[in-house]
Amino acid sequence: MREKLGFVHYSTGDVFRDHIKRKTTVGLEVQEYVTAGKLVPDEVVLEVANAFVSEHTGNVVVFDGFPRTIPQAEGLDRVLEAHERKVDMTVLIDLADDDVVKRLTARRQCRKCKAIFNLEFSPPAREGVCDECAGELYQRDDDKEAVIRDRLRVYHDQTEPLIEYYQDRFRLERIQGEIGRDRVFEEIRKLVEDRG
Ligand SMILES: [Zn+2]
Repeated sequence: MREKLGFVHYSTGDVFRDHIKRKTTVGLEVQEYVTAGKLVPDEVVLEVANAFVSEHTGNVVVFDGFPRTIPQAEGLDRVLEAHERKVDMTVLIDLADDDVVKRLTARRQCRKCKAIFNLEFSPPAREGVCDECAGELYQRDDDKEAVIRDRLRVYHDQTEPLIEYYQDRFRLERIQGEIGRDRVFEEIRKLVEDRG
């Protein structure tokens, strides 16, 4: 697992892929849902989180994009409690909906080598052409505005209530997303280093 500057990074997608690759019991379970095109249920998501916490008892863990719902947050609290740990801090990266749409609709992917470009932040040298392999760049369906607006609706409905959940129980820090991903990462690193 990725270990960066004193903490291990937990991203649901990466950890799922790792379990599937290693053919662990929970990995095979995840694979079944993914193959069927079904949403992985919370109990399985939490099983994966539990396995990760068990493997990293001595490390600071940064959960990225997880939990996404109140039931997942409550489940994570139970997982951590079972390991005699708890959430030290939560970080909210704040970005207005229109900025999210602007950034994500600017993404382009190469049809051939799958490299990702962003017309705003990392544009290709030649319009519509991949820098790596000269393949054709296109906009993926999940980067189209209507799809992103749908995901934002789900975010506001299911994930945004977590702000209050964590604010009331643990320390919540806010980072303004406009500063860009490198500076956001730097801010998170500082918060993790200086926590306590
Ligand atoms: Zn390419």
